[in-house]
Amino acid sequence: MKKTTGTDPSITSQWRPATQAVRAGTMRSGHGETSEALYLTSGYTFDSAEEVAARFAGEAEGMQYSRFRNPTVDMLQQRIAAMEGAEACLVQASGMAAMTSSLLCMLSAGDHVVAGRAAFGSCRWILSNVLNRFGIEHTAIDARDNAAWEAAVQPNTKAFFFETPANPTMDVVDLEFVCGLARSKGIRTIVDNAFATPVLQRPLDFGADIVAYSATKMMDGQGRVMAGAVCSSREWIEEYLSPFQRNTGPICAPFNAWVVLKGLETLDLRARRQSANSVAVAHFLEDRGLRVLHPWLESHPQSELAHRQMAAGGPIFAFFAPKGREQAMAICNALELIDISNNIGDAKTLICHPATTTHHNMGADGRAEAGIEDGMLRINVGLEDPLDLIDDLGRALDRAGV
Ligand SMILES: *Cc1c(COP(=O)(O)O)cnc(C)c1O
Repeated sequence: MKKTTGTDPSITSQWRPATQAVRAGTMRSGHGETSEALYLTSGYTFDSAEEVAARFAGEAEGMQYSRFRNPTVDMLQQRIAAMEGAEACLVQASGMAAMTSSLLCMLSAGDHVVAGRAAFGSCRWILSNVLNRFGIEHTAIDARDNAAWEAAVQPNTKAFFFETPANPTMDVVDLEFVCGLARSKGIRTIVDNAFATPVLQRPLDFGADIVAYSATKMMDGQGRVMAGAVCSSREWIEEYLSPFQRNTGPICAPFNAWVVLKGLETLDLRARRQSANSVAVAHFLEDRGLRVLHPWLESHPQSELAHRQMAAGGPIFAFFAPKGREQAMAICNALELIDISNNIGDAKTLICHPATTTHHNMGADGRAEAGIEDGMLRINVGLEDPLDLIDDLGRALDRAGV
């Protein structure tokens, strides 16, 4: 058995991203298996009472209990950290476990958060319905507006929290400016990078402190399991996230971690191909005269910024049924190949109507403020041949009277 190099960060950090996605974190057992092993165990056994005592005292390296550590989960964490260019990563049960843990582990009563108002529905919900109950206030702003970030900062502001591109309006946030502003004021930035993945955008390179993921999306990439991930400095993970997560328990199951670990092996390929397919489909819709919001298209008001901070536009974009909600739903219903589903990041092309699904609980006022119109549709472009997707969409638009 050849010695694996995947667990030595001084080596894996030198690899290029596509290599990291396949090999970083791999930790072989004595059997020399090629595919990473799935360790379905909650506990571990020890040679002596002294040994287990040393591990609990933090004096000896090794597993103690799977709420703290698990070898399959460790492999996934090391792989994501290498791809992100981060010192450390911890994975969670879902993207929302990742977001909630990142906020709660470091904030206290009296603290303030500035957040982008175009965001995943549940991210807005935890700010308005969980954090506020513990005396943590927030201000929601138009995250595209650099001046709005500056204006929203208060003496007690401890965190900036946003996604870019944002769900579902495809707002792009200026990472260099916003992370730089936070740094200059001692505020930590949490970037929800689910739409881009480390293949297309690495927020830490622009000065972000914490990058959080729904690994359910592009990282799994085949719509199988729920998972989340948080990357940051070793210091922040050890001081805040690790003790919070070990004791409150929003951990990722080893089986789910294993599925995501294998998903990452094809992430580079999928993210690039889905981005290209997505541009092809978006061009088709624009040529049919529809309004499209896609960060890679010239018609997007922030296309130049997106090109500056991303390697490609990602699989997801929004477009608008000219006659509003009824027509948007008619388009969904007329599709034969593309599935109606609120998930994203899948290899299958999926469409959803945000106003009545993912962003339903924001209310009409919240949606209007965030730019989520009733005619808006969000599409995740998968790995099918884009010509088949275009045929399907063309037929559906005809039938819906567009
Ligand atoms: C899906 C998603 C989440 C939540 O992740 P889950 O895995 O569904 O819990 C958070 N942020 C963004 C941008 C998402 O797309």
